[in-house]
Amino acid sequence: MRLLFAVLTCFTAAIHLAADGPFSQKTLDHAAKLRELGLKDTRAYSLVESLTVEVGPRMAGTPADKLAVAWAEKKFREMGFDHVAAEPVPVTHWVRGPEHAWITAPYPQVLHITALGHSIGTPPEGLEAEVFMVPDLATLKKSKAEDVRGKIVFINHRTEKSRDGNTYGKTVPGRAAGAAEAAKLGAVGVVIRSIGTDSHRFAHTGVMRYEEDVKRIPAGAISNPDADMVQAQLERGKPVRIKMKLDCKLLGTVMSANVVGEIKGSALPDEAVIISAHLDSWDLGTGALDDGAGVAITMAAAKLIAEAGVRPKRTVRVILFANEESGLEGSRHYVTTHQDKLQNMIIGVESDFGADVIWRFDTRIDEAYLPVADAIHKALEPLGIARGSNRAFGGPDMTPFRMMGVPVVSLLQDGTDYFDFHHTADDTFDKIDPKKMAQNVAAYAVFAFLAAESPDGFGRIPVTAGSP
Ligand SMILES: [Zn+2]
Repeated sequence: MRLLFAVLTCFTAAIHLAADGPFSQKTLDHAAKLRELGLKDTRAYSLVESLTVEVGPRMAGTPADKLAVAWAEKKFREMGFDHVAAEPVPVTHWVRGPEHAWITAPYPQVLHITALGHSIGTPPEGLEAEVFMVPDLATLKKSKAEDVRGKIVFINHRTEKSRDGNTYGKTVPGRAAGAAEAAKLGAVGVVIRSIGTDSHRFAHTGVMRYEEDVKRIPAGAISNPDADMVQAQLERGKPVRIKMKLDCKLLGTVMSANVVGEIKGSALPDEAVIISAHLDSWDLGTGALDDGAGVAITMAAAKLIAEAGVRPKRTVRVILFANEESGLEGSRHYVTTHQDKLQNMIIGVESDFGADVIWRFDTRIDEAYLPVADAIHKALEPLGIARGSNRAFGGPDMTPFRMMGVPVVSLLQDGTDYFDFHHTADDTFDKIDPKKMAQNVAAYAVFAFLAAESPDGFGRIPVTAGSP
């Protein structure tokens, strides 16, 4: 019966599409208008300027995080969104203090270090030990405890540049799990080569994870040139010693919020297209690229739809998630607390990869609805956007949605330079090109409008989790 129903559904969709495509000419003309207006957008650029200047760094749980929530609510209201809400979310509060490191032997030098998010601190007098270098996490896992015991493990894994960011996925496990794996072999600390593609002396932070029942040891990242220095000293064949002083700590759980702003649908207001970003940032820069840009692009795109004269059938919901950076806490909480409404969330996307141009449109939808996605792509194509696969990631905060069967898309930005700045003090407003940002606004407005106008949504994708 279920199979028959599925077949009938596909058949109906096919007939519907065969006639004249999923969208009327009037709808496509309006999408073209949104595209042209989007390319002239300056609102997103102003919004990210405002967020970075008036709030600045906004790490989850900090006073600035609360300011960011208030900022977002105020902006949504000023822009006339139909429904605005700050939905409370418990978040992990971790703070960074002063941080220093040195090579103490054989050739003493200063190192530029930053603690990884959630790391414990070192004793106040610092932690000094001989270095044990590995090229990557896999090699560390295969290392012998007798070689590692009592040492500081140095994971010297370089991140290469890539347009789609796939190289980040190769090195980031060392940041996340390096401390736990090193501790299992008796290490006293971990230092990683920054997960970054620049050659500046900025260290890249990012979250790490301890394991239950494994000793917690401090973990930091050193900049690429500093990693080169440690490597060069090791290559001289003498034992190298590092001293580090990290004054960071976990302070427990405090309240933050997901901030939601909606442009209500004209015919099916309970059904929604989600366009999202995350409101929190790391503390070193001002979070312009990560993810002030995404916040601004999605807010500006929804506002553009609201003011362009045609209300789509369904609601366009902008969600600015809390604490993406250290554990997707906002998006997980959203999916848990709105589980009964997931069926009404027809598709979602997150903008969380900086502010460079969008070059590819990936989807992850029920295959029966691919013709609808292809028709949306036709409206995106004049922006220089290629049609990608049906294996979209959707963005980090879409993970809990995807796992619960909500279809997602990726409007993939060019990430070639993204990891030069990501999670560093150099993630600042001057890195954003207003023209490229406007292309993003155009693409988000076209996608959100047409998705909200789709005849029957995008089906569901396989559920991969029992709970978010
Ligand atoms: Zn981000």
